[in-house]
Amino acid sequence: MSILVFVEQRDGRVRSVSREALGQATALAAAFGGPVVGVCCAAADPGLAALGEAGAEQVLFAQHEAFASYDGAGYAAAVAAAIAAVKPKVVLFAGSSMGRDLAPRVAAKVDAGLATDCTALVVDGGKLVATRPVYAGKALQKVSFPGALALVTLRPKAFAAPEAQPGKSAAVSALAFTWDASAPRAKVAAVVGASGGKVDLTEAEAIVAGGRGMKGPEHFAMLEELAGVLGASVGASRAVVDAGWRGHGDQVGQTGKTVSPKLYVAVGISGAIQHLAGMSSSRCIVAINKDPEAPIFKVADYGIVGDLFEVVPALTAAIKQLH
Ligand SMILES: Cc1cc2nc3c(=O)[nH]c(=O)nc-3n(C[C@H](O)[C@H](O)[C@H](O)COP(=O)(O)OP(=O)(O)OC[C@H]3O[C@@H](n4cnc5c(N)ncnc54)[C@H](O)[C@@H]3O)c2cc1C
Repeated sequence: MSILVFVEQRDGRVRSVSREALGQATALAAAFGGPVVGVCCAAADPGLAALGEAGAEQVLFAQHEAFASYDGAGYAAAVAAAIAAVKPKVVLFAGSSMGRDLAPRVAAKVDAGLATDCTALVVDGGKLVATRPVYAGKALQKVSFPGALALVTLRPKAFAAPEAQPGKSAAVSALAFTWDASAPRAKVAAVVGASGGKVDLTEAEAIVAGGRGMKGPEHFAMLEELAGVLGASVGASRAVVDAGWRGHGDQVGQTGKTVSPKLYVAVGISGAIQHLAGMSSSRCIVAINKDPEAPIFKVADYGIVGDLFEVVPALTAAIKQLH
């Protein structure tokens, strides 16, 4: 049976989180014995044939001029139509802000079970079992699906993107769907770019995040510099965002973004459980804090106990020397 992947595009570019989903879909397709099919909603084709290199055999293109920006109802109608056409075993979405909004809408429409924010998928006895962290990452929940169809959102960066298969291309075909665009219940008024066009935190390979220990917004220039030499994006704790030092798009944690970069550097962040919920699945965690008892050290792979105003410039200078 086939595996359907919702292919997310922004500004005419397929997002890397969708390639991660295609990689997982390929692994599931091997177990279930069916093709990997993508479905993409857009105003213009963002180069869907190239998704063959990431494992898609076919991509259904739901084209609508209103799809220049995200429309929950319209996208849900299109994905539901794709499900009706393909009759997949599993539908994968990225656990991005778009996927988190879209997947529950589709699940309600097609009356299927949904497991969100999953960090592992296995096929056990012919059935899909999804693992999702709960209680701010303190426990792992295993979810199975009694129905014929399973919907899953994948935590960004928790799954590796597949090795590209150069020269492979996917068959792209138009998807027929019905949706009345003339009477939207909600409309996207504007899309505000995250952190001035930098890599979104959920897609960043490395993140340098600052907390209340930074003492003020002016000192984030120091983190920007460290991030610059590491090729990282800058994140923040909620204390920082609530104080207005950084925008909400930078917030990591339970009420912010969930991230799983290869490297997460927490600077002047105590490590409250709500912060850990958003970053504890990072591959390597480095903590810089002057308090040796700070809870962040419990999840850190490397810890530096010291004054961040001395440690961060020294670290930046040392990394510059390596270049
Ligand atoms: C419902 C709910 C949801 C929440 N959601 C989130 C969320 O999404 N994300 C989030 O982050 N928080 C969230 N919080 C808030 C969370 O509980 C903490 O209050 C917050 O994470 C604390 O931020 P902080 O670590 O920056 O500040 P603090 O806890 O004040 O920690 C500052 C740290 O900086 C260190 N420090 C100070 N000066 C220096 C220095 N010179 N050098 C080195 N270290 C220094 C201190 O030792 C301390 O450990 C939520 C809370 C609730 C109740």
